[in-house]
Amino acid sequence: MAEDGELAEAASDDARAARIAARRREVESQLREVEGQLAELRAARGALHDDDEHDPDGVSLSSEWSRLEGLRREEAAALDALDEAAARLARGEGGTCATCGRPIDPARLEARPGATSCIACAA
Ligand SMILES: [Zn+2]
Repeated sequence: MAEDGELAEAASDDARAARIAARRREVESQLREVEGQLAELRAARGALHDDDEHDPDGVSLSSEWSRLEGLRREEAAALDALDEAAARLARGEGGTCATCGRPIDPARLEARPGATSCIACAA
């Protein structure tokens, strides 16, 4: 994977790639959990009659559905962002901002291995 030379940098890229992969597994399992809850909710909803719009259970199911659906979208977006960060890292662009091209603060990458933009651009 790493080209010859720049061993120190390759090592830190490897460490970051490992952190991205670890974070990805976390997000992926959270995503699976949310999808499982959505599936349960879908089943519970299906058990209600369609014309039970005014049923209090129907209302709370709907708001729970919105909440879970929002969570699912967030997790999916986080996965995409991590994939992009991993791809940029593999191209040797992991340390530069995707927006302005300036170096990303290493402390930021430490805290958020999936970051693809500098603090100024992310703000
Ligand atoms: Zn930037």
